[in-house]
Amino acid sequence: MITVIGSINMDLAVETEIFPKQGETVQGSLFKTIPGGKGANQAVAAARLGSKVRMIGAVGNDSFGKELYQNLQNENVDVSGIVMAENSTGIANILLHNRDNRIIVIPGANYDLDKEMIDRNIHHILESKLVMMQLEIPIDTVEYVLAICKKHEIPVLLNPAPAKNFKKEWMNQITFLTPNETECEVIFGDDWEKVLEEYPNKIIVTLGSEGAAFHDGTSIVRIPGFKTTAVDTTGAGDTFNGAFAHAICSGITMNESIHFANIAASLSVEKFGAQGGMPTLDEVYARLG
Ligand code: ATP
Repeated sequence: MITVIGSINMDLAVETEIFPKQGETVQGSLFKTIPGGKGANQAVAAARLGSKVRMIGAVGNDSFGKELYQNLQNENVDVSGIVMAENSTGIANILLHNRDNRIIVIPGANYDLDKEMIDRNIHHILESKLVMMQLEIPIDTVEYVLAICKKHEIPVLLNPAPAKNFKKEWMNQITFLTPNETECEVIFGDDWEKVLEEYPNKIIVTLGSEGAAFHDGTSIVRIPGFKTTAVDTTGAGDTFNGAFAHAICSGITMNESIHFANIAASLSVEKFGAQGGMPTLDEVYARLG
């Protein structure tokens, strides 16, 4: 069982030809509500590949909350660790204009995910093969879970997004850290090759269409991405994380797991939406050949 402890959001996407100026009202061209939040996205990515996934998180007692809860259930994610909290469901307000976007996130209920909720789910955490977290929930809660997992020797995959919330002192409590290039730079500075060398078999840096890299204890290993035409790269990182978790839990090597995750993520960028393009195991196998 993989346990994901993280955010659940509704993305509210508005597309417009013109960005409104201060005090101006303009007519947009499209509005969509799309399930998101890095926690939920990564849970769906792993579940679609056939992993048993349990999500611990919080939504509001409102229509978005109910919809997101149902969406995770439809994706075969075990929702028994999701609570309806006091605050309203987390949202990301996304304004899309040509290839530009402006995003406002309201964490809402995601910030109600506290230590008490972790305690209530402790038996689930302790039976996990892997715990996956991101940084869109309270940092206190992340630190609390890291300490529990360290004590009970439960492997942790941490996707350090947003990177500004990451603390380097956590490194000895983390099994796998999966920053993208920008996050790696924010946390460790611009020489990511040196950083990989410092943390062999622990940091996997994702490099967009170029794939991903890690240090295997002897040298840097670059695993190239699968060349494809990207339609929407939203959620590529989340698909990579969910797929890597699925693969590493199935007992294959780091190298093979990263290749598997690259293939899964390449399929995800071919379709619109974060969860929309996340592949099934059959789709990944078809591309793996
Ligand atoms: P995002 O924020 O867009 O979800 P990210 O910035 O967290 O993604 P990236 O390093 O951009 O992470 O991408 C994650 C993985 O997705 C890469 O390691 C690669 O496997 C795959 N990927 C991303 N972009 C492409 C692309 N254009 N073509 C093929 N694979 C891609």
